[in-house]
Amino acid sequence: MMGNVILLHMVRRAPGIKPAGMHEANERPDRRHDHAGCVRRAVSAAEDVCTRRKVSLTPLRRRVLEIVWRGHGPIGAYEILAEIGKDREKVGPPTVYRALEFLRDTGLVHRLDALNAFVGCDHPDEGHAAQFLICSKCRRVTEIEDPALTRALRGRARSLGFRFESGAVEIKALCDDCAIAA
Ligand SMILES: [Zn+2]
Ligand SMILES: [Zn+2]
Ligand SMILES: [Zn+2]
Repeated sequence: MMGNVILLHMVRRAPGIKPAGMHEANERPDRRHDHAGCVRRAVSAAEDVCTRRKVSLTPLRRRVLEIVWRGHGPIGAYEILAEIGKDREKVGPPTVYRALEFLRDTGLVHRLDALNAFVGCDHPDEGHAAQFLICSKCRRVTEIEDPALTRALRGRARSLGFRFESGAVEIKALCDDCAIAA
């Protein structure tokens, strides 16, 4: 099902001001940050989630998760397939798609309908409705997980006769860097 794509022209907040609900790992990571640490945290969070749900993080699922976490930007399914294709052990596209579906169902990755791409989630708690700021120029993505925002949207939707399915909201915006460059 499609996410709601809201077209807004927004300029990203001033640097240094961190609104509540912004997640560190999805924050604009500077080039020097320890990204191997981000991947380690993502994999260990995935292991916890899978243990709690009594499902298995198979080597392929883990591998796909690591590829999604190759950075903080979105990645398309074809790119993931190309990356897997470099592995010694060959797996077919349907297997990779199933692994992606598993990661998505488990909340470990989110699918961005507007970009037809995936991003890793650094707080894969069950059932959070995610909102995303997507830079329309450089495609940088930041996840906002603000329960107050989710409640407000859910309440408004109900009053208008709608029920949330995923509740994911994709907001087209302009990041600071692109705003400055413009
Ligand atoms: Zn990182
Ligand atoms: Zn998330
Ligand atoms: Zn940008």
